[in-house]
Order: sequence, then C-alpha cells, then structure tokens
Amino acid sequence: MVALVSEAQSMNGGGRMTTSDDAETLSCIRHPGRSTVLRCGRCNAPICVACTVQTPVGARCPACAQRRRLPTYEVSRRLYLRAAAAGVAAGLLGGMVISGLLRGLFAIWLAPVFGWLVGEVVARAANLRRGPGLQAIAAAAVLVGAVFGPALPAIVSGRPIGAALLQAVLVAGGDLWVGVFGLLAVFFAVQRVR
Ligand SMILES: [Zn+2]
Ligand SMILES: [Zn+2]
Repeated sequence: MVALVSEAQSMNGGGRMTTSDDAETLSCIRHPGRSTVLRCGRCNAPICVACTVQTPVGARCPACAQRRRLPTYEVSRRLYLRAAAAGVAAGLLGGMVISGLLRGLFAIWLAPVFGWLVGEVVARAANLRRGPGLQAIAAAAVLVGAVFGPALPAIVSGRPIGAALLQAVLVAGGDLWVGVFGLLAVFFAVQRVR
C-alpha cells in the first residue's frame, strides 16, 4: 500500500510549485539524484522507494516513521527484556545439557543446534521481531549459556553461586573449544533474528 499522490493533488494540498508535467523531476529528500513519484503520507516530502517505510497508517518518510514509533518504545523495551530473559534461560539450560553430554571438540557439533534453538527462543519471546538489538541479545544469551550453563548442576546441588560461576569462567577461559563452540553458536543464533 504505497501512497501515490498525484501531482495535481499535492499542488492543491501542499501548495508546492509543481505541476503534473514535472512529476519526474521530484527527487527524494534523502537521495537528491533519485527521481520519484512517492510522497510521505504525513509530511508530504518526496521519498524514493528505498526510503519509504510502510506503517499501519500508510507510507511514511523515515523521519515520520520514526516519530510514530516512539509511543511504542515501552512495548519494545518490554519485548527486549522478555527476549533477554527467555534467551538467557534457554542458553543456561542448553549449556548445562550439552556440557553434561559432550565436551571439547565433540561438543562443537551441537553448537549450530544450540545457537539456533537459543535464537528461536529469543525470536518467539520477541513476537518474531528481528533487528540488531535482538541479535545482540541472542549472542549474549548464547555466550552466557555456554559459559555459565555448565555451573547450574553445582549451584543446584548447594555450591556457593559465586564460587560455581567463577569456576565456570576459569574452565571456559582455559578451554579453546568453549570459544569455538560459542562463536559457532552465536553465528547461528544471530541468523535466526536478523
Ligand atoms: Zn514525512
Ligand atoms: Zn531515497
């Protein structure tokens, strides 16, 4: 649903010095060399197809689309928090299960599955949204899970949390394969929400 505003309408409505004859001479406000017949439905600025942002209320220029998005900021932050909580929980559980099954080089084969699953949990918790913020959350959840997940059984069995977490960091820091596992898993997790 692209707002195609004819030049005659825009002249009447916006008082611009344009006629139907120079429709092709309109150029995008962001790309001066790019001609267009599209206009923002709110501020009437000429925008090219690449700059057009589809919103629930029609086509908008990037600035107007941003303005409309602000009231939903709180919702986004709640979704981010939910995605982070779900992602870290999935990462910890996955890290615990995998470290109980396989270690070192052999665990590498589970990295794509682990990463994809954590990414899937993050995506679903965020109502299947995507973006750089969710990619960062997915990556962090994978790393937290890979490093601290193996410490969960010790914590559950009554070991002091601080000592268990510190040991987990030392183990991960001394094991090259944890790093390789983490990087592989991060790659697959990020793919899910990009
Ligand atoms: Zn606009
Ligand atoms: Zn443009």
